[in-house]
Amino acid sequence: MGTPSLGDMTLTVQTDPVPAAPAGHALDAAQSDATPLDVTAPRRPSLSPSRAADFKTCPLLYRFRTIDRLPERKSLAAVRGTLVHSVLERLYDLPAAGRTVEAAQELLEPAWAELREEPGVAELFAAAQEDGAETTPSAPESVESWLLSAGKLVEKYFTLEDPTRIEPHGREELVEVTLPDGLLLRGFVDRLDVAPNGALRVVDYKTGAVPREAFEGKALFQMKFYALVLWRTRGVVAAQLKLLYLKDGDALTYAPDEEELIRFERTLVAIWAAIERAVTTGDFRPNKTRLCDWCDHQAVCPAWGGTPPPFPVEAVAAAGWQTQLPVVELSSSEVGAG
Ligand code: SF4
Repeated sequence: MGTPSLGDMTLTVQTDPVPAAPAGHALDAAQSDATPLDVTAPRRPSLSPSRAADFKTCPLLYRFRTIDRLPERKSLAAVRGTLVHSVLERLYDLPAAGRTVEAAQELLEPAWAELREEPGVAELFAAAQEDGAETTPSAPESVESWLLSAGKLVEKYFTLEDPTRIEPHGREELVEVTLPDGLLLRGFVDRLDVAPNGALRVVDYKTGAVPREAFEGKALFQMKFYALVLWRTRGVVAAQLKLLYLKDGDALTYAPDEEELIRFERTLVAIWAAIERAVTTGDFRPNKTRLCDWCDHQAVCPAWGGTPPPFPVEAVAAAGWQTQLPVVELSSSEVGAG
């Protein structure tokens, strides 16, 4: 099937009901430029862009996040991303003419009021000020200055798009497809625009700076993932993948083609096969790189002298994975009880 054009990119389209994102997804979305976590339990093992990226970065990191579900610290930057995503999502609830910078700024406070109720969020500010956990020059000194920094990102958004001329087809939209070999792909798209001629545009908001080349590749990996799912579900190759970098006020756009998505699908299938092999054997290797500096799991990582927790065979089986590993009953001393 051909790829409809987006023309001048002004999309005046119908607004369809948008499937609600599961509770807790907001944090996932905003962390997409950090290290998003799947907080929703999939119906069966599935692959998301962030988890695929985890496995490519470090198989053991994938295990810790997806299988062991070890807790990770929130960061002020990630929570700010969540807040900005929430404001931009709510902005499109307003009538088109009312989507002004001022209106968007007014959405910050109610969005923040909800977000600060989430576990660990309010404590972040106290921790940052007490132990200097965030001592970069841009680190906020107070909730007020942190909110101001979020407001600046929201304001910058208006230099990249005119929201009065856009009617999103979907926001925080769950997209998923099962490939012929059974692999379930799932992800959430920040915004999906559909032109009257059917042309698709996938938009992702990034609250960090424009990435260096390697990280740009990671961002495009995420967008190609969405493009593949949409192509497989709608039969249309997205005319444009658009990444909006709100810190720098810059945008990256990309137009995939069918051949590329076919190759990308093969890549995902290969990644999934490698994940399944690792689950079957329980062998998730650490991959020590500079990215370890941002990993919360060094204490239990062999690459850093730690010992991982026992592989949770029962949980893995309950989640629908196929594994040949025997279930081992551990004594209380072995699991560190008491
Ligand atoms: S510390 Fe590094 S090697 Fe260990 S799990 Fe984290 S990313 Fe992987």
